Amino acid sequence: MAEPPPTVVIVGGGFGGLAAAKALRNAPAQVILIDRSNHHLFQPLLYQVATAVLGPGQIASPIRNILRDQSNVTVIMGEVTEVNKEDRQVLVSDVDRNGVPLSYDSLILATGAQHSYFGHDEFERYAPGLKSVADAVGVRNKILKAFEQAEAEEDPSLHQDLLTFVLVGAGPTGVEMAAAIATLVRNSLISDFRRIDPTTARVVLVDRSKRVLGTFSENLSEAAHNRLKDLGVEILLERGVDQIDENGVLVAGERIASKTVIWTAGVTPSPAGKWLEVETDHAGRVRVLKDLTVPGHPEVFVVGDTSSLDQDGKPLPGVAQVAMQQGRYTGKLIHRRLLGKSAPRPFRYFDKGNMAVVGKGFAILQTGKIAISGFLAWMAWAAIHLEFLAQSSLRVSVFVQWVWTYMTEQRGSRIIVNHHAAPVGPATEASATPAAEAPALAQNR
Ligand SMILES: Cc1cc2nc3c(=O)[nH]c(=O)nc-3n(C[C@H](O)[C@H](O)[C@H](O)COP(=O)(O)OP(=O)(O)OC[C@H]3O[C@@H](n4cnc5c(N)ncnc54)[C@H](O)[C@@H]3O)c2cc1C
Repeated sequence: MAEPPPTVVIVGGGFGGLAAAKALRNAPAQVILIDRSNHHLFQPLLYQVATAVLGPGQIASPIRNILRDQSNVTVIMGEVTEVNKEDRQVLVSDVDRNGVPLSYDSLILATGAQHSYFGHDEFERYAPGLKSVADAVGVRNKILKAFEQAEAEEDPSLHQDLLTFVLVGAGPTGVEMAAAIATLVRNSLISDFRRIDPTTARVVLVDRSKRVLGTFSENLSEAAHNRLKDLGVEILLERGVDQIDENGVLVAGERIASKTVIWTAGVTPSPAGKWLEVETDHAGRVRVLKDLTVPGHPEVFVVGDTSSLDQDGKPLPGVAQVAMQQGRYTGKLIHRRLLGKSAPRPFRYFDKGNMAVVGKGFAILQTGKIAISGFLAWMAWAAIHLEFLAQSSLRVSVFVQWVWTYMTEQRGSRIIVNHHAAPVGPATEASATPAAEAPALAQNR
């Protein structure tokens, strides 16, 4: 009887894991991709779900549907809780079973990151982060409900707290969210209410650093800052958040009353380093070798946000392009190994550039020596984001929605979704995912 082909287990169907699975398309291997959710999520557009431009189904696709034509891949929905390197097994829990062992010949860990509250896990109750579809729908509920509550509230003195939106963290997600909320209140909602004036809403962006979008050049950061101010966003820099509770935030000793605080300040890697018991960097990301394996275990690869690799003396950033290129590299390396071919050259990241959108028709773009801001950068941003959505049906649907929103100011998904399982309230709408114990990485995309 013919021997079964070697098994490649991929944990995570995000940017890194999916790219690895696709690169193994023609490999003589049985590929098992495990993810705790059933979908691949395009995180760069999460903020558009949170601000009601797009619906969740426009930025996420079932992983098994994306890989339906790849007959050597089996997709399993389950959560990996442990890795046993010596026995070459991962332990998987699914709906009705815990710790089911699954053997591998090669293992790719692509388990990403989650938001971190820098040791203040108590903030999560009042300031949800943005990492999953559930998070985005929870934030959308919070924002839309604030307007509904204000309209129903007869005492105008209570309107201001309800209509103050505070974003903690002025990295790309915070800036994109702040600009999108400002556009929502100034344009989309303008004629929908009778008792309140949505344009009086305050949008406040807070960060400890000296400038917004600190990973971009100073000129681009300044362009984004000016654009945010034009949109009416209040920017509080070099100020830390000391406290967050149901009544708002305490920023450098000053209280800002708000019923909607959103956390966009940082992420922390998955516990892959703990599962493997290998060296990690200060943030808990697994230190990998130049072929993306872990020392002493050439069959174990770690890619994307949960791995740490320096290039030209600097750590690679936690962005989708790094994860995709690493996933693709790993898939190719394993394929070559299975064919008995020589190993490829060490991994090298090709930086195609960095961008962030700041409201309708305005983005900043930095690639090599090119640094532009404005409408042209926004067109490039839109084209690139459409290209990288996982399926062509999503590209068409998102394109049509963007054109419609651009022309009419109308948002595509202004629905408040209440889940019957949990009581409705600010504390229950955020994802219940606990913040990990590892120290946080600044959001570095
Ligand atoms: C709001 C937001 C906006 C962003 N915008 C941009 C942007 O504009 N440009 C950019 O380049 N980058 C952006 N990023 C960063 C980018 O999304 C990440 O760098 C990228 O997703 C990393 O890919 P990954 O494969 O490492 O992890 P992910 O894409 O996060 O995938 C990890 C996968 O692993 C699964 N998983 C995790 N743990 C387990 C487990 N124990 N068992 C089973 N499955 C598990 C998860 O369900 C998930 O599907 C953004 C991130 C966020 C949160």
